[in-house]
Amino acid sequence: MKESLDFVYKEQKELSTLGGIAALLGWDQMTYMPKLGVVERSEQSALISKLIHERVISEKFWQHIQNLSTNLDNLSENDKAVVKRLEEDIEKSRKIPSEFIERMSKTTTLAYQAWEEARGKNDYNVFSSHLEKIIDLEKEYCGYINLPGHKYDSLLDDYEEGMTVEKLKHEFSFLKKELIEILEKIKSSPIYENQKEIDVKLSEESHRKICNVVIEKMQLPKEKARLDVSTHPFTTSMGNDDVRITTNFRRGDLLFSFFSTVHEAGHALYELNMPRDEFKNTVISDSPSLGLHESQSRFWENMIGRSKPFWKLFYPFFKEESAHLYNNVTFDEWYRYVNQVKPSMIRVEADELTYCLHVILRFELEVGLMEDKFSVNSLPQLWNEKMDEMLGITPKNDVEGVLQDMHWSGGSIGYFPTYVIGTIYAAQLFKKLSEENPNINSEIENGEFGNILMWLREHIHKYGRLMAADEIIKNTCGEGLNSKIFVNYLKDKYSSLYEV
Ligand code: MG
Repeated sequence: MKESLDFVYKEQKELSTLGGIAALLGWDQMTYMPKLGVVERSEQSALISKLIHERVISEKFWQHIQNLSTNLDNLSENDKAVVKRLEEDIEKSRKIPSEFIERMSKTTTLAYQAWEEARGKNDYNVFSSHLEKIIDLEKEYCGYINLPGHKYDSLLDDYEEGMTVEKLKHEFSFLKKELIEILEKIKSSPIYENQKEIDVKLSEESHRKICNVVIEKMQLPKEKARLDVSTHPFTTSMGNDDVRITTNFRRGDLLFSFFSTVHEAGHALYELNMPRDEFKNTVISDSPSLGLHESQSRFWENMIGRSKPFWKLFYPFFKEESAHLYNNVTFDEWYRYVNQVKPSMIRVEADELTYCLHVILRFELEVGLMEDKFSVNSLPQLWNEKMDEMLGITPKNDVEGVLQDMHWSGGSIGYFPTYVIGTIYAAQLFKKLSEENPNINSEIENGEFGNILMWLREHIHKYGRLMAADEIIKNTCGEGLNSKIFVNYLKDKYSSLYEV
């Protein structure tokens, strides 16, 4: 027993060390690496991934886990939790043949290149044969995992353990109907008719300054985190006390860099507050799902970052950076602008209301592909029809339509729904927190985020993977995923913003 326990903990420690090295390689590639480093960097990353996979599925590791798992009664509660979690993880990994992982990796490397080329030429056909191969591989993958129920559940499970198509279809069809209704109402309002852009082009230095102010206010510790620039914003952890976030200042759009910084800082705070002590460097010290991780970023970005008290705090910082731009802009105009609803083609630039429709569209297409309801070739047309149905606009080409996201080229089918799941969870958490802390608005307005952060630590962060995501939400909010809470939040917000 002792020998097995020692081995299992040592192995997890070394696996998380290797994971940190992989994260560092990936972060560098996205931020500072010179372009021509890419060939050797891919080899370096592939080698680390291979080493990790070999150790994860090694017979010796499995034997020690089995030894412990047949003696669970003799283990402490903490060891029991670690062993159970580990056994489930490894059992799943061992279902996938190494040869399949290699095939998938080769296919997605080529598919990513084809996707970039297709975007450059605005020609979906360059990408479609690659996507067909990926869909076939995904179906093969489902065969290995083979969860009961819908095929897509086996894909979903990698990102949102325990979630099912049936449950999502139920939540998303309600949400879709409600979002379209709210959008139609807003469109009929004179305020919508008359809304306009406010020019907020600031220098990169000002962008950076404001982003650093907001992460400091959010209490992201400087000695454990840093902010850099990449094409697409992301968060990655290299160790227990080292988390990196990125943003992009070059889009000329101040709000993009600002909100993506707030979003990624929300992810980073979660990463830094995972369970440590006896769970440090174990499978427990991680998030149970991408949806729950996303709930932390959406919570800060939307519930806090787009709220009125938050802008009472932050508007002066913006004004200070560029007084001449804001001379003729009142606080109310600015607050409305920050929350402006406007159907648009690109998901990552969408407003808070229409964002989820972009994701539901992708979910419907992915499920249809897995059900063989339609072919990869018909995706561009279906995409455009669904955009028209949900948002009332049609992409003028595939670059602003079906080719806009990189997810499918990387074989990430089943990933998109986690964005909406996280958004719904965030609304549920915010409602609960507001009930428990009636002073929340004045705390936000005064930049006092300590109580909010502590509440998130107590209710979400500290559990790591001790429970499933939906269970953690149930414990805190009294129920699992419930899009009605999110819809009510949106109705409240937009009925006052658009006077509808
Ligand atoms: Mg995110």
